[in-house]
Amino acid sequence: MQRTEHVYEVAEDIIQVQLPLPFALRSVNCYLLRGNNGWTILDSGLNLPAGQAAWQAAFAALNINPGDIQQIMLTHFHPDHYGMAGWLQCLCQEHSPGHTPEVWMSPREAELAHKVWGFRGDQPEPTALFFRACGVPEPLTLAMAEGIALLRSMTRPHPMLHMLTTDARLRIGRRSFVTLHCPGHSDDQIILYDPTDRLVLCGDHILGKISPHIGTWPESEPDPLGRYLASLRTLATLDVRLALPGHGPLINNWPRRLIELEQHHAERLELMRTVAEDGATAYEVCTRVFDVTRLSPHEMRFAIAETLSHLELLVQQGLLQRDSQVTPPRYTRTV
Ligand SMILES: [Zn+2]
Repeated sequence: MQRTEHVYEVAEDIIQVQLPLPFALRSVNCYLLRGNNGWTILDSGLNLPAGQAAWQAAFAALNINPGDIQQIMLTHFHPDHYGMAGWLQCLCQEHSPGHTPEVWMSPREAELAHKVWGFRGDQPEPTALFFRACGVPEPLTLAMAEGIALLRSMTRPHPMLHMLTTDARLRIGRRSFVTLHCPGHSDDQIILYDPTDRLVLCGDHILGKISPHIGTWPESEPDPLGRYLASLRTLATLDVRLALPGHGPLINNWPRRLIELEQHHAERLELMRTVAEDGATAYEVCTRVFDVTRLSPHEMRFAIAETLSHLELLVQQGLLQRDSQVTPPRYTRTV
């Protein structure tokens, strides 16, 4: 195989393709899985010219005809994973007229993709309304809304979607995967587990270097952090020797990484509880636990959503209370 700097064979019949991102995260890991009659792509990248060039270079390096893409699977609806699925579908059609690879996604993630990326812009931006209600200053909410609109433009064209179910058996080449429901980073992220090879394609649910973002968003189901922590405990029962994540390095010590992530959130919960106990809005808590002077509006969205998910769990645990009689709502210690 001709090697390029962003294409790596990471396991038998699995090739990682790193696609560029215009954020601090820098790249997203997508995967090509060799099948008996073509290739399966797992996650697609953000639709930018640099991403298109990276896919074209990967196909050339691997001697893959894009017409041989059999199917595209998406772990979750976030733009860096969903954004190029429609473009890849079109590319395949160009190389193999009459053949349209199926794009698979869980029903909830498909609903979220439709809601967030299909938003037509003829109503006020839901993200701006949501963050304004949390006490975020107006210039920042407007900058966040602009950021969302820009991301939306990087998710087009939209693919035709097929629904992927949880706990399904999926045969790809010599491998047999089980699809697992992993809530928290998104409502219904699907990850692929190969029990024979003890390998998991874990999307953004587990990352090796950074803690995956767990945030409360206008469209999220309640208590994403509580659901995430519960899923870590379920995932700890899997026998995994190698995890292939959506960003950053491969994960070779699955049990230890799960414990580190659990500990990270325990520390963040305690920090936020302490910061909020004398009374603070979500935005005020955020500005005290994150170094917000260093964050772009894009990163601030994540910081505030992350703060909200922790505050929400603290309220559920009875460690804080939320006063919704005031605008924006304030958090304080329980009496
Ligand atoms: Zn991601």
